Amino acid sequence: MKNQEGILAFDIGGTKVAYGVVENSRILYYDVVSTTALKKDPERFILETCKRVSSKVSYRAVILGVPAVVGVDGTVLSAPNLKEIERLNFKGLIQDECRLEVHIENDVNLSILGETVYGAARGAKYVFGVYVGTGLGAGIVINKAIYRGGSGAAAEIGHIYYPDGEGIVCGCGKVDCVELYASGKRLEEVKAARNCKSDSVFLCQEMKEEIDKFLKALSFAISTGANLLDPDVLVIGGGLVESKEFPWGELIKQIEEKTRAPLPREHVKIVKAQLGYKACLFGAYAYFISHGSSTTC
Ligand SMILES: [Zn+2]
Repeated sequence: MKNQEGILAFDIGGTKVAYGVVENSRILYYDVVSTTALKKDPERFILETCKRVSSKVSYRAVILGVPAVVGVDGTVLSAPNLKEIERLNFKGLIQDECRLEVHIENDVNLSILGETVYGAARGAKYVFGVYVGTGLGAGIVINKAIYRGGSGAAAEIGHIYYPDGEGIVCGCGKVDCVELYASGKRLEEVKAARNCKSDSVFLCQEMKEEIDKFLKALSFAISTGANLLDPDVLVIGGGLVESKEFPWGELIKQIEEKTRAPLPREHVKIVKAQLGYKACLFGAYAYFISHGSSTTC
């Protein structure tokens, strides 16, 4: 364990980049900008942001959460929703320029770690988390450590084959990945095509059938993970799920119907994420605390 000191954490998403200096469960500095600013020149954006923040608040390490599979050396290997960062190695760049400890990790993995250490799954040993955003992401945390798999691509739940699909090609190149039917992107596209004027997709009469399909696909993906992993706590989060109009009760009912009984169904505690936008930043801090400077991520 290190002494408590602040770190600069980035939560890089497909539409916005949030970043902040975090110390334990306190955010000392926070800002959010459009991802457009990063897309033009990702390396320059990250370096300039590091320098600008350090002129205001000091920090001792940089942790980047990216919507991507990250290789063992920190290289971004695959980012279907943010192609501009593929093949980049921010770790080497920031270490060379700023002489700071740097770690890079999948954004959902960090968020689930954040919920495990500070949020909805606090104290649980086996945690499986699912985030519904533009895509469909998941993370596995065991004893407060992220399970990354052999190549860093563990828990890519959005790319499970969905047998009730419509023959659509996914950004990953496969056909009928479940995130094509169980993500915010799909709902927003159908909402726009049907000219629905409500703020929330869940309030559109024209969307009823589409939302039924969405819940069926989402519960299929989540229950598949629950059957495979038998977690103590299953955390479900993301902007869509955390909106007040989201049909939480119906989703839970469908997950339970598709999860093996009596176990793991009677064991798994299903909870909604609690930390919102802070999950990835808090997870980044927890990650930093558990990784010594001699440890590569
Ligand atoms: Zn896919």
